[in-house]
Amino acid sequence: MSERILIIEDEEKIARFIELELVHEGYEIQKSFNGREGLEMVENGHFDLVLLDIMLPELNGLEVLRRIRKTSQIPVIMLTARDAVMDKVSGLDMGADDYITKPFAIEELLARIRVALKRKHSVPPDTHNNTLTTGNLTLDKDSHQVSYDGQPIELTHREFILLEVLLENRSIVLSRDTLLEKVWGFDYMGETNVVDVYIHYLRNKIDDRFGEKIIETVRGVGYIVK
Ligand code: CA
Repeated sequence: MSERILIIEDEEKIARFIELELVHEGYEIQKSFNGREGLEMVENGHFDLVLLDIMLPELNGLEVLRRIRKTSQIPVIMLTARDAVMDKVSGLDMGADDYITKPFAIEELLARIRVALKRKHSVPPDTHNNTLTTGNLTLDKDSHQVSYDGQPIELTHREFILLEVLLENRSIVLSRDTLLEKVWGFDYMGETNVVDVYIHYLRNKIDDRFGEKIIETVRGVGYIVK
């Protein structure tokens, strides 16, 4: 069965162009030209991936993303305008899997779609123990919740994945490149210090708040959770 992609993009020409290319690649496509309707389609349809424009009528793309992430981990690739750095950062913070800047080459979009779908399918099947821990810190993969000594910690989608990778590789030093690949995808083309930025976010929310050093820096190498 072909994979289903929803395009939420109000510029109808762009939406049709993407649709034609994706249909040609064998994907099944639906389109929405406004944020509110698009969100409803995500909630009611069975899509494998969403392409989400940011500047949308009725409900902007970031708000659509925020609402999608309340209930779903479906891969979302944001379509952003050139130089809209804040949109990219906000989008990734709110759980977008990737973004692509308009105008883009269709080959690049296709590559990003393949990576996002592959990542989705590589999620391991449920096992009996889907909890990762270190000391008082617990990460539950099923409920997507993190807590310290029973106190819930609110993490963004990306922070969650970063912590998950660190905990899955406990006692192993992970280089920035490894983390970049595992958390952002090997073809990530954004800022390379994004790993340090997100480690900083995690430390703010966990180490600083609870007064315990959980994520350690291995100078010149990377990061480790012991
Ligand atoms: Ca738009």
